[in-house]
This record gives sequence, C-alpha cells and structure tokens, in this order.
Amino acid sequence: MNSRKSTDNQDKPLVGHFINGSEVVGDGRTTDIFNPADGRVSKRVVLAGEDVYQAAARASAKAFPAWRTTPPQKRAQVMFRFKRLLEEHSDHICELITSEHGKVLDDARGELTRGIEVVEYACGVSELLKGEFSKNAGPDIDSWSEFQPLGVVAGITPFNFPVMVPMWMFPLAIVCGNTFILKPSERDPSASIFIAGLLSEAGLPDGVFNVVNGDKETVDFILHDKRIQAVSFVGSTPIAEDIYRKGTSSGKRVQALGGAKNHAVIMPDADLENAVNALMGAAYGSCGERCMAISVAVCVGDEISDKVVASLKDRIKNLRIGPGTDISNDMGPLITQEAYTRIHRYVEKGIQQGADLVVDGRNYQVLGYEDGFFVGGSLFDKVTQEMDIYTDEIFGPVLCIVRVDSLGEAMRLIDKHEYGNGTCIFTRDGGTARYFADNIQVGMVGVNVALPVPVASQSFGGWKRSLFGDLYVYGPDAVRFYTRRKTMTQRWPEQNKTEKARFAFPSAGS
Ligand code: NAD
Repeated sequence: MNSRKSTDNQDKPLVGHFINGSEVVGDGRTTDIFNPADGRVSKRVVLAGEDVYQAAARASAKAFPAWRTTPPQKRAQVMFRFKRLLEEHSDHICELITSEHGKVLDDARGELTRGIEVVEYACGVSELLKGEFSKNAGPDIDSWSEFQPLGVVAGITPFNFPVMVPMWMFPLAIVCGNTFILKPSERDPSASIFIAGLLSEAGLPDGVFNVVNGDKETVDFILHDKRIQAVSFVGSTPIAEDIYRKGTSSGKRVQALGGAKNHAVIMPDADLENAVNALMGAAYGSCGERCMAISVAVCVGDEISDKVVASLKDRIKNLRIGPGTDISNDMGPLITQEAYTRIHRYVEKGIQQGADLVVDGRNYQVLGYEDGFFVGGSLFDKVTQEMDIYTDEIFGPVLCIVRVDSLGEAMRLIDKHEYGNGTCIFTRDGGTARYFADNIQVGMVGVNVALPVPVASQSFGGWKRSLFGDLYVYGPDAVRFYTRRKTMTQRWPEQNKTEKARFAFPSAGS
C-alpha cells in the first residue's frame, strides 16, 4: 500500500464551526479529513482554540434564558420542521457521511433514519415534560414536581456515527429547554455543520445549538468551563472514563458511553441460516465499526460450531467490498490508515497467540481504489479468553468464534468480560432465551436479534465499562438527564384564619 499521508493540503476546503447561527472558520490548527475510499485528503478541519470555544460558550449562555422560557410546544414545532428538512436533504447528508466515514450509502441512510426517530420522539416534549402532581398532599397543601432545563450542555461524539450519535443527544437536550455545544469527531465533522444549518432554517434561535470542531484541547475547555452543566460523551472506554472523572469532579452531570465487545450466543437449536445471516450483518456491517457490532460468536457445542464456521466462511469470501458510494457493496473501507494498521496488527496477534485464522482479510485490494483503507472480513475459530483478539475491542471486521459446552459457560464468559454493551442469543427455546435475558450482565439484549439497538422511545446504554454514569442516552432517560427535578409544596390557608406556630415536623396529617 502506498503512503497515505499528504504533505501539503493547504488548498483543501476548510471545515470550521457553527456559532450563534452562522458558520465561522476561525484560525488555528487544522487536521486532515480523508476520503477513506481513495485514501486521499478531501478537506481540512479547523480545531477550535480558546477564542472560538469561548464564542460558542458565550452564545449558548446568552441564548439560554429566552429558550428556557419558550413554551415546550413551540420548541417542538422547531423539531417538526427540522425533521422535514432532514428528510428533504437526506441524500446530501448520506453523501456527506459516506465521503468522510466510508460506510455504504444504505448504512448511512439507516443511521440517519435512527437519528430522525429520536427527533420524532423529541417532538412529543410537551408530554415528556409533564410534571407530577399530588393534590391535598397535606391540609390545604398541593405538591408537584416539574422538570427544568439545566442550562448549557455539551455533547462529544465519535467518528462511527457522525449523524446518529449527535442526534441521540441534542434533539432531546434542546426540546427540554437547554442550549447545546456539540464537539463532533474531527474525522468526519461536515455533517454536523450542515445539520446545524438545517436547525437554523427550522427556526431554532441563534446560539441554542453550536458546533465546535476540535480535539482533546476543545474537550478540555468543555470540561473546565463552569457554564457547562452537563456532558454527554460517546467514544472509547479510556476517554469515556477520563471524561466522566474530570467532568463529575468539576461538578457536572456526565454520562459517558464507552467501548464494547459484544457476544452472540448460538445455541444448538438455533435456526442456523437466520443466525449466520444476522451474524454477517452484525459483524461485518459498517466494517465492524459499530459499538453494537458482534465481535464474538459463542457457539454451544462442536456440532453447531462447525456448521457456523463453515457457513460464515463461504459468506465472508463473498462479501462485496468497495467504495460506499456503490450501493451494491456490503462493506466500505475503514475510517483511517491507523485503523487499517490496527486491524492487521490484531490479525497477526491472533495467529501468534494460537487462534485458527479461517478467513484472512488482510492485504485486501479493491481495483481502482488501491490507496483506500479497505480490509476484507476476517474470521478466527477456537479463540480463547486470554487472547488479545478476545479481550480487546478491535473495532474492525474481525469475528472470533469461541467454542463452549453449555449455556452456563457462555454466560460466565460474557459476564466476566470488562464490557457489557450489547449481547444476543440465537435459540428456538423460549425458556433458554428468557433465562439468558434475565440474568446476563449486559445492558442491551437481543433474542434472535443480533443488533438490539433500542428504539427511540426506549433508552440506549451498556453496563460495566461500557457506560460511566447512571442514565442512558435518548428516550425517557435523556429527559431525566437533561432536566433537573424541582418539587414544589404550596399552601393557601383559609383567609383571615390565624395559624399557630407548630414545632413538630410537618406531615400529611397536620
Ligand atoms: P474516541 O474515544 O477516540 O473519540 C471520541 C471523541 O472523543 C471524539 O470527539 C474525539 O475527538 C474525542 N477525544 C479523542 N481523544 C480524546 C482525549 N484524549 N481527550 C478528550 N477527548 C478525546 O472514539 P472514536 O474512535 O471516535 O470512536 C470509536 C469508539 O467509540 C469505540 O470504542 C466505540 O465502541 C465507541 N462507541 C461507543 C458507543 C456506545 O454507545 N457505547 C457508540 C459509538 C461508538
């Protein structure tokens, strides 16, 4: 493979920021954005320095008082218009995703659709923000709880869903009455800027939604800024843990979603054809760069293991791999050359540590795209718990088969793993499925569903080191995360009636 680093890309278009209703470029360091399909630099993104960050924070703080008191229904009306605009511009948004991330257009459309579903849920904010009322909580006393916005909140998002993951956060934060600063991934930032423009077109007041592009330096501004009340983070576990620690120690509310190693359990009675088809999509879709990707298939018994390996082997060899713009492809390139090198390194390690490499996806070439970050699908059999390919999140199209003798052994394996994002079981037996779902130590569970990503009216999150914090993203948990409960107790005694001082602690009876 040729060297993919460009030495001089000064002529490439710059991606800046979106502050107070307008795009601004600003000065500062830049970093290259690649088209992963051809390995070339397509644009450069400006990394915010302190001046740009401060402008965004000022705009968000200034917009908050008026937005906070805007009736929820009016806020929802902006979301209704925003949804329509997202649909109108969906082709362009998907093209932006594919040009910077590399995923196939169909997959980009899937991610946008999932994001739009969160916007639809946010349109129901009037219902979601209804408080709780207790009439006659005491003599002449009524009591209620209401949910008030926090203020300026921030979202820091990963490269692998440049549209969906930001939309897990800002639609609900905004309809709840907060103002928002988004720091997208510097690898694929263009869609966020475009979407910010759509929000303005939908009638969102200036300053309510701002995008600040940047890297760790920008994240540090966010974490140290006293105006930021809450941070939603999605990314890798070491960064999630660090952000959770720093954010909470400076008094912010933080939810930090991290990495994953999702296991699929294949029981001997599973519908083999359906299970293997589901595994193919879940392991190799989006080049394995999904936090819900299945990267381990735990097969119960040698008979089913042999069958699963044989059917996967044929299908992997027939994967259609190429640029995401060609809709006949199943799998596009990886995001960067670093990711390409990492996948090769893990495959080497797997071989060295004694796993059986059944399909080798290394050194895959796509004709006409020799400099693209393409790899083929890899499959390892007879993987054991000590191997790095089992313990680590590889984040690429590498599936590990672990053979076990019983469901109990499969479950102990999953429970022992440091991550607990998603898992699934393939079986025809209701009792087995129910036992698994009830007892497994993982946050999102599928039964004959390989990617159990919750719908917009539920909430998304993992257990163990896949989530730092208490509340999941989107759905009902997001309404709680982006609001603060206030409980009122109100009394209107009878007119002209003088009340005596009471020294006993008040209770409902007195
Ligand atoms: P990443 O952790 O490298 O980056 C995520 C964000 O953090 C980016 O905006 C990045 O600019 C910023 N960042 C990077 N290094 C930083 C540092 N040292 N200090 C502060 N901020 C920093 O993750 P990624 O490579 O963009 O995305 C892939 C990871 O995200 C995988 O681990 C994947 O499992 C995870 N992910 C998790 C979920 C989930 O819901 N749990 C969803 C999507 C992705």
